[in-house]
Amino acid sequence: MSDDLRPKPQPGILDISPYVPGKSGAPGSKVVKLSSNESPLGASPKAIEAFRSVADRLDIYPEGSSKILREALGEVHGIDPELIVCGNGSDDLLHLLAQCYLGDGDEAVMSQYGFSVYPIITKAAGAAIVMVDDDGYTADVDGLLAAVTPKTKIVWLANPNNPTGTYLTDAEVRRLHAGLRKDILLVIDSAYAEYVTAADYSVGLDLVAEASNVVMVRTFSKMGLAAARIGWMVGPAEVVDVINRIRGPFNVNLPAQLAGAAATRDVEFTAQLKAHNAKWRDYITEELTGNHMHVVPSQANFVLVLFPDADHAALAFETLMQRGLIVREVGKSYGIPDGLRISIGSEQAMIGVVGILKALVKIA
Ligand SMILES: *Cc1c(COP(=O)(O)O)cnc(C)c1O
Repeated sequence: MSDDLRPKPQPGILDISPYVPGKSGAPGSKVVKLSSNESPLGASPKAIEAFRSVADRLDIYPEGSSKILREALGEVHGIDPELIVCGNGSDDLLHLLAQCYLGDGDEAVMSQYGFSVYPIITKAAGAAIVMVDDDGYTADVDGLLAAVTPKTKIVWLANPNNPTGTYLTDAEVRRLHAGLRKDILLVIDSAYAEYVTAADYSVGLDLVAEASNVVMVRTFSKMGLAAARIGWMVGPAEVVDVINRIRGPFNVNLPAQLAGAAATRDVEFTAQLKAHNAKWRDYITEELTGNHMHVVPSQANFVLVLFPDADHAALAFETLMQRGLIVREVGKSYGIPDGLRISIGSEQAMIGVVGILKALVKIA
């Protein structure tokens, strides 16, 4: 009887497996963290300066709509600031999109190796997640379209995708959009846009401008400001209005707004990040390919390395860990037991990882 008198969460909540973040070392330890796709070069010095500049203004509420940040984003990316909503990380915005556009009996479609937050937020909204097999390690547009039913309300697409690093070309994303009913929201999560070098990629802004059912979501987390928690989205005015109705009234804190605006304008730093990442992404991909390992071609700031089997992946994980290099296991959370996801880090870290893995797989 006492059981019946306990507060009960909504149906579906207890079926959710909590998000598993990348492992960290003990505070103050010398380990190198390559497990959460953070920036290989830290944060923009201008963003750090902006963050510090308000250390003595923490008693006053921030401006609630993140106007300063939206204006910087609008200026640099050529977007109307009125069509931007900022969030406490892009997870904040993804949650709000799910809450606003999904409910009991609805379905959201995503690809098999898509970002593991999508099932959580879909189920939290009372809806069902429909997983579509990848074509290799890349989202399969025909499969996604075939999975749409009258109950479908959202299609979640990370582009490039985490944890595979693969991407859909602009033409493929457009083909996906063209095949969707107009009442289905296509959420393009461009979390790794800053790192893409492929010429046939589009961040999604053109499609947002042309269509009434496309939203693009971005984050500052992968470009040096993960701790500040800043995300943003651009969408049709109607969707922006809906999200603004229910978001936290002060969902982005003042130091984050200022750091985000400074980072946005520091296009030189963003270019440095991109160049560093491309160089060491090429390096690790070339060095590890062959040697009984396969590196899935990546457009992001990490690579998915596939080993001969799950035991080799586990051994590689432990060996790197012992040498102070923490990478990300993708067995339980993503169903890729023979893989490890490795963030692109410093030159020293990348040379270290390559040396250790080459020696290890030779022995094995
Ligand atoms: C990291 C990541 C996010 C979340 O970013 P935050 O802004 O830190 O919440 C969203 N989508 C994808 C695909 C990611 O990899």
